[in-house]
Amino acid sequence: MTKTTLVAFDLDDTLAPSKSPMDPRMARLLGELLEVVEVCIISGGQFSQFKMQAIDNLPDSSSSHLERLHLLPTCGTQYYRFEGGLWKQIYAENLTEDEKSRALTVVETRARELGFWETETWGPILEDRGSQITFSALGQAAPVHAKQAWDPTGEKKNTLREAVQADLPDLEVRSGGSTSVDITRRGIDKAYGMKKLAELTGIPLDDMLFIGDRLDENGNDYPVKALGVRTHAVENWTDTAAYVEKLIHKFRASSAS
Ligand SMILES: [Mg+2]
Repeated sequence: MTKTTLVAFDLDDTLAPSKSPMDPRMARLLGELLEVVEVCIISGGQFSQFKMQAIDNLPDSSSSHLERLHLLPTCGTQYYRFEGGLWKQIYAENLTEDEKSRALTVVETRARELGFWETETWGPILEDRGSQITFSALGQAAPVHAKQAWDPTGEKKNTLREAVQADLPDLEVRSGGSTSVDITRRGIDKAYGMKKLAELTGIPLDDMLFIGDRLDENGNDYPVKALGVRTHAVENWTDTAAYVEKLIHKFRASSAS
């Protein structure tokens, strides 16, 4: 068996259902995995999302192993570790003020021109996430059914993405969730985050294993596979739970021998 010193997970639809808390079974298994190996969670989402979906649901028994957990929100442009009983941001690579203000202006202008600037929303449409500017057509807290109804084919989102990208050639504009468009520096994806993690921890990429639900060529986990990291594809968190159960077994067996 190849040496694995770190197991990395995607968050949405890998550890937990999209935007939802982790199931207690998955939480218990993640806690057990932390007893035997370093663990990383990497996602395009914010730290608050990591907290709500994963960290806050970990069993109390895992608290003595949280030093082994590496958190990479917004694809690794931010890095959090548990130190002295608290989650600390170790670094954040934020957009410059100029990049932020151009991104905010362009996305609002284009959305208004295209008739996509809604007046009835659930929270603010634009969000400054430090390393990312996010446009959410109906606001950050819009219910799933409203989001699905707004742009069932994804056409509005893609039209806006293209228009904004044309105006911001030095930045990267991607379609995020069902009604959102994200603006970041160029070349920020999960491969970027994993490389960053290798640099920060000194753990070589060859010693890492990545688990994700979108390792297909169009998926947001694919860049990690393309980077050459060992990967395991899952469909959902129950798949992940079954696989992690086996992993824990293997780690325990190899440390006992
Ligand atoms: Mg996912």
